[in-house]
Amino acid sequence: MAAMEIQYLHGVGPRRAALLRSELGVETVMDLLHTYPFRYIDRSGFQKISELRPDQTWIQIRAVVQSVKLLGKKGDTLEADPAKLRSVNRLSALVSDGTGTLEIVFFKGIKFMVTRLVAGREFVFFGKPTVFNGRINMVHPEVDDPDKTVSGTLTGVYPSTEKLKTGGITGKVMQRLVGSALEMVLPQLKETLPDYILKEKGLVPLSYALRQIHFPVDQSALSKATYRLKFEELFLLQLSLLKQKYIRSRSEYGIPMPKVGPAFNRCFEALPYELTGAQKRVIKEIREDLMSGRQMNRLLQGDVGSGKTMVAVLTALIAIGNDCQACVMAPTEVLARQHFINISKYLAPTGVQVALLTGSTGTAERRRIHSGLEDGSIGILIGTHALIEDTVVFRRLGLAVIDEQHRFGVDQRAKLWAKNGDGIPPHVLVMTATPIPRTLAMTLYGDLDISVIDEMPPGRKPIITRQFGENKRLALYKFMKDQIALGRQIFVVYPLIFESEKMDYQNLEMGYEDIVTNFPLPRYKVAIVHGQQTADEKNFNMGAFAGGRADILVSTTVIEVGVDVPNASVMVIESAERFGLSQLHQLRGRVGRGSEASYCILMKGQKISKESQKRLDLLCETENGFILAEEDMKMRGPGDLEGTQQSGLPITLNIASLSHDGALLSDARAYAAHILDLDPALSRIENIPLAEALRSDKYMTKDYSRIS
Ligand code: ADP
Ligand code: MG
Repeated sequence: MAAMEIQYLHGVGPRRAALLRSELGVETVMDLLHTYPFRYIDRSGFQKISELRPDQTWIQIRAVVQSVKLLGKKGDTLEADPAKLRSVNRLSALVSDGTGTLEIVFFKGIKFMVTRLVAGREFVFFGKPTVFNGRINMVHPEVDDPDKTVSGTLTGVYPSTEKLKTGGITGKVMQRLVGSALEMVLPQLKETLPDYILKEKGLVPLSYALRQIHFPVDQSALSKATYRLKFEELFLLQLSLLKQKYIRSRSEYGIPMPKVGPAFNRCFEALPYELTGAQKRVIKEIREDLMSGRQMNRLLQGDVGSGKTMVAVLTALIAIGNDCQACVMAPTEVLARQHFINISKYLAPTGVQVALLTGSTGTAERRRIHSGLEDGSIGILIGTHALIEDTVVFRRLGLAVIDEQHRFGVDQRAKLWAKNGDGIPPHVLVMTATPIPRTLAMTLYGDLDISVIDEMPPGRKPIITRQFGENKRLALYKFMKDQIALGRQIFVVYPLIFESEKMDYQNLEMGYEDIVTNFPLPRYKVAIVHGQQTADEKNFNMGAFAGGRADILVSTTVIEVGVDVPNASVMVIESAERFGLSQLHQLRGRVGRGSEASYCILMKGQKISKESQKRLDLLCETENGFILAEEDMKMRGPGDLEGTQQSGLPITLNIASLSHDGALLSDARAYAAHILDLDPALSRIENIPLAEALRSDKYMTKDYSRIS
């Protein structure tokens, strides 16, 4: 019954079925029952006409029809002659509840309304107040008989679209359809959660939850229904993720790495600074993974500049200490080269050989690298996608570090995975500077272990963030000149939301012209980098800036934001209102790496939405990436979060919200872990419903386990 196609539900038919499918994704009767109202209108009371205000979202009055007029296009009064109804423009009824009178207006359905709205009869009118000629009236309200009880006192409002409305599927029709669906499905509905879970977690049965989510008798019933459905959704999702993780941790062996080895110790002793508490904690977590005999799959999150590279280096050295090799994969050539330079410095005291392999590595060097990898003389290989090519063969790859993971495709990850001849996959450490809120990380990477570096190395100066309007441009240029006079370098970034958009390039080019005019040669040198340049052009310009030969780098966001230029102390972001919060934060993280005070200037346009203004204000208030990520998620919803779309793991939650139900998510996850502890295969008889639920497409299609 529940799986019955929606078309066959009473009142639907092929045309409405097509609409429900295309607009709401409803295929079956059960899908309809899982299309929940997104808010509820309290219809438990009536307002007095004398007390109506235009700012009320909904009003409900009980009133008697005083008089009805049919009006023509010019406002002329017409007779209620059925033959003349065609020329009628609107129906206007005056109704009264004893406290005042209110005009009710219909432009459509007049033929029916004129027979229903008979003077002297009483109705319940429900709708939105509108103001016309300075007076409140109601257009197209719902009209009900006073004795006809409204089902429940809270009326659900369903998601709707223009097409649904014009196709006749109004809110009222939705309610009717859901009503018949409930009648049909509830008698045979199978409970999806085992009894003991309902008891332990204090959840209401599914049948109750479904009825109350659509037609709540009161607020308390609605809360219970919502809680049950949210819990189930989050719980099953976590159960499926944790189950996969559990299966993998049992079935996939990892190379045991019991020692740290001499290279690690030498590097550690030569460190010019003390590791932060967070770095130490993360290294300890990684050590435990590596010693466990199981494959490590760990996501390392940390703000830009929090010291992830050091953690990666020490991890790689553990691999080397256990007679393995390591590779570090970066998303771009510039980043790979930068890693190579930094990591080579750290490795100097260890004697470990490190090589760089990118698309532009020459044939001779390539040959040298290939043989060095095969005979094991090269310990660490750093590179771009080039290092996953089939021709690259390691003697024994023990660890793959992936920087900024979201730019790597699933296929590429799989290739890396298969690099080891003996079939034992390398340990994987994914590093990201995109702070992902905890709740989202738990869901997106539910089967990965997560380490967080939540502490910055000491001595970092705060980045002074300010927002400027266009009227301050001259002051900005003056400030930039002062900074350049002090020997500093400056990033100027333009938004490039869609790479193909001409407009964006025009902005960039015009901005560049403007900068070049205001910062003329020979005194100032300006470099430009954007996505339409060849790799050589990009490298040349980036190199000029990184090497201190250019004072200003004008670029789009497609540039390698990860690039480290310690001498750059100013980040100017043009049209800052067009960037997302996380993106702004990432860009800002490009400065503040040296010992000098640094600045982030947000240039904003004149017409800027409240939301955008709030983003800019938040950015000025805090430098904590996790706080910003949480706020970003609250403002935009998790689906839009940067990095999540590319990760290829679209999570569509039906009722729970990652931004608002964090506590419930944690509880559901802990509970799922507890159940798997007791019954890892979910094979006990009482858990059969769970095993069945996990077999649904929703949980089967996503292969989270191979995220890296
Ligand atoms: P991330 O990769 O997380 O953006 P990096 O690893 O590039 O950060 O580190 C940023 C800077 O901080 C580097 O110059 C690095 O040498 C320095 N650094 C890292 N760890 C520490 C530490 N514990 N104390 C002081 N400086 C550190
Ligand atoms: Mg880094």
